[in-house]
Amino acid sequence: MATESIIVIGAGPVGSFTALAAAQAGYKVHLLEASNEVNTDPRAATFHPSTLEMLDSLGIMDEFIALGLVARYFDYWDKPARKRVAQMDHQVLEGETRFPFVVQTEQHKLANLILEKLTNYPNATVHMGTSATAFIQHADTVALTAVGPEGTLDLKADWLIGADGGRSFVRKSLGIDFEGYTWPERFLVLTSLHDFEASLGCAYRGYFADPGGWTNLFKVAGDDFKGRWRAVFPVPEAETDEEALSDDSVARRLGPAAGRS
Ligand SMILES: Cc1cc2nc3c(=O)[nH]c(=O)nc-3n(C[C@H](O)[C@H](O)[C@H](O)COP(=O)(O)OP(=O)(O)OC[C@H]3O[C@@H](n4cnc5c(N)ncnc54)[C@H](O)[C@@H]3O)c2cc1C
Repeated sequence: MATESIIVIGAGPVGSFTALAAAQAGYKVHLLEASNEVNTDPRAATFHPSTLEMLDSLGIMDEFIALGLVARYFDYWDKPARKRVAQMDHQVLEGETRFPFVVQTEQHKLANLILEKLTNYPNATVHMGTSATAFIQHADTVALTAVGPEGTLDLKADWLIGADGGRSFVRKSLGIDFEGYTWPERFLVLTSLHDFEASLGCAYRGYFADPGGWTNLFKVAGDDFKGRWRAVFPVPEAETDEEALSDDSVARRLGPAAGRS
């Protein structure tokens, strides 16, 4: 088994994790990523204890924690009253998990850390800027065609893993539907350097209840480690994207909490 080969498509958190786990297990691995770089948009950043256990199995835990923030508490707030109504302490999980806390590390840092680790594995090759375009399943193997910086790339492997996101080319090629329902909701994510821990006593994860519109507030380290607070707001149906992204909307939503009008 250890000489089998695996192609992984997509270097998001799922594909990069899978590629490193496969390389560590001795498989010959090709990881393909369509973009030239890992996407650094603000996306997932909270890693819960069960995910931390998985990451620990790759031996990257200390470095992963060093890239983010350890959050022992999360809070529930009454937003109109500006009052914390409950504080949850992950420490109650001590004895259940080796990681009774969450780690707030932006997902692109995980992918980039793993890509760096993969360079230590001669059995792993990372193809950035390379889009998988077609594959054929044979009796024992899969043949994949991709287009990369050097033109067409033809690869053959025992297994192909599609970790290519919600619009997965692999899933569609296999005729698998994305079943389910998309909630007609939009969220606005604002990132601020304002220190909500100092001004309001916020923990690194806060959930603010308000009949007029809830808010979630998280702290991440940022690429410069200066710390960033991400505030998430629901966008009412009647509000256009342009209105939601305007300076007025930012001031109205974030200004009062940040002590600005
Ligand atoms: C704007 C935004 C905000 C989000 N915020 C949160 C959040 O706050 N909390 C949370 O838990 N989750 C959040 N998510 C969801 C989270 O980002 C995803 O669940 C996560 O990225 C999924 O990881 P993945 O590895 O499965 O796929 P992805 O991260 O989507 O990675 C798939 C990769 O495959 C590559 N790819 C696609 N097609 C091909 C191809 N043909 N060939 C080669 N490569 C290909 C893509 O370029 C991409 O890098 C957010 C998502 C978005 C878009």
